[in-house]
Amino acid sequence: MATSGKTRLALHWKILIGLVLGVVVGVVINQVWTEATWHALGVDEPASYIATGRAHVPQGVDLSSLTRDQIAEQYPNAGAGAAAACARLGRQFNGFVGDLFLRGLKFIAVPIVLFSLIVGASSLNDLSRLGRIGLKTIGIYLCTTALAITIGLVFANVFRPGSFVNQETRESLVAQFGAEATGKIAAAKSPDVWSTVLNIVPTNPFEALAKGEMLQVVFAALLVGICLTLIPKEKAGVVIAVCDAMNDVVIKIVDLVLMLAPFAVFALIVKVVADMGLNVLGALAVYSLVVVAGLATMMFVVYPAVFVPVAKVRYGRFFRAMSPAQLLAFSSASSSATLPVTMECAQERLGVHEEVASFVLPIGATVNMDGTALYQGVAAVFIAQMYGMHLGWGDQLTIVLTATLASIGTAGVPGVGMIMLVIVLQSVGIPLEGIAVILGVDRILDMCRTSVNVTGDCMVCAVVAHSEGALESEESVRRRSASREAMGMDEQPRGGMG
Ligand code: ASP
Repeated sequence: MATSGKTRLALHWKILIGLVLGVVVGVVINQVWTEATWHALGVDEPASYIATGRAHVPQGVDLSSLTRDQIAEQYPNAGAGAAAACARLGRQFNGFVGDLFLRGLKFIAVPIVLFSLIVGASSLNDLSRLGRIGLKTIGIYLCTTALAITIGLVFANVFRPGSFVNQETRESLVAQFGAEATGKIAAAKSPDVWSTVLNIVPTNPFEALAKGEMLQVVFAALLVGICLTLIPKEKAGVVIAVCDAMNDVVIKIVDLVLMLAPFAVFALIVKVVADMGLNVLGALAVYSLVVVAGLATMMFVVYPAVFVPVAKVRYGRFFRAMSPAQLLAFSSASSSATLPVTMECAQERLGVHEEVASFVLPIGATVNMDGTALYQGVAAVFIAQMYGMHLGWGDQLTIVLTATLASIGTAGVPGVGMIMLVIVLQSVGIPLEGIAVILGVDRILDMCRTSVNVTGDCMVCAVVAHSEGALESEESVRRRSASREAMGMDEQPRGGMG
């Protein structure tokens, strides 16, 4: 984008560069910086050194019961050299940048939903329209999720990834990840439909805000917004004006947080890639490829097949507008943390009106997990194939139903999709031990499925907005951002987003 005679790189390119550099640096660290490197720097136990700063843990001594000063006094040589200290500092700084960014996003997730939805609902002035939008949203979300699982099942049945893992590999993976898998299996609990629905109504709205219970926040904001239309205008106007101004403040904070995005994406990706053993990926290459191929089909074929003809949004326009959210979803593996950016992209870059975006997207980030559902379909069939189990039509239909429910019950945070997979496996009697086999590659697949989860929310948002006449034309979005630039707002990060 050319501004004031100089060319500025759009945000999604900056994030992409951060991501690619993160992968490269992460792979180099993973390959070059081994345990032997730490030993050469005088560190006995790298993990404990990184966590505690103690390079030599004296045998049989429980240091956790001592204070920092006591350790320094009693075990003066528990430190390492300057090179090791620098490496530790680098890791800590890297973690700090990534966490700071994620905290920033979580900081704004609740206020952005609250204020924009109050303003949106109070401007609707029409309860039947709200009901219609709600029904459309939930209906389309359910259909896309069921479709996603079906695609997952078809891919897994056609490519049979389970037949590529021999018993020896399976047993070694179970031995390596068994303990961690047991923890995940214990954490799974079946979603109960009634209590899930009941739970949307908060008993204390302030508690809902404090705990970030997104569906409850949506409910409370809608209720407040609707009731604002039922009280005298002079009183309602004050509240709406305050919420509107607060909304602008929150959006400004999103812009500020986004300035950190390229660096944060780099930091998050370096950590994941550096920590991930590439050997595991090798053993599960076919399974991972099938999951990624299914997700790519959903993202690049199925969604466009809906939004291009139905919402009349061009292929390139959609992906250009939503790419910052997709890339952040990939880097953070959390659709909840990505929500503020998803909302910003949908409103500012795609041109969805506030009242639709602020309703459809928070609900989507909480209940619509197409990528997770697809992954659960592939994973269930993969594990069954590995254990030589035949799954009939009835079993596969059961998987579609339970995976739909399980994905609704999946929170938009890293790794929960795998915990909910336990319920899917249980529903058709597939050995839960299989979780241990796929655990090693879960993080990378989580990143991919989270991108699809977020893309699915945006697709439904565009479709609902178009059907309600709440989607700006491409031309109008372009004119709006051009006029913002002309007003000098292009110095702000938002002006540089696309
Ligand atoms: N990480 C996913 C999300 O946030 C959920 C999952 O599949 O684990 O959307």
